[in-house]
Amino acid sequence: MEVTCRCGYVMRGSKSELIEKVREHGRSAHQLEVTPAQVRALWRMVDDPPANAAKS
Ligand SMILES: [Zn+2]
Repeated sequence: MEVTCRCGYVMRGSKSELIEKVREHGRSAHQLEVTPAQVRALWRMVDDPPANAAKS
């Protein structure tokens, strides 16, 4: 899963990891309390790892 913050900061990880990462980023970078529901509204599936995207 991947979430791109409105500031352009990209976070990746599993669903539970992302909720923690986004909430922490919101607090430290934006002084904003982000709820898990807000994270779920923002994230999207990403299958291919970026480093190997050009392969195959
Ligand atoms: Zn941000």
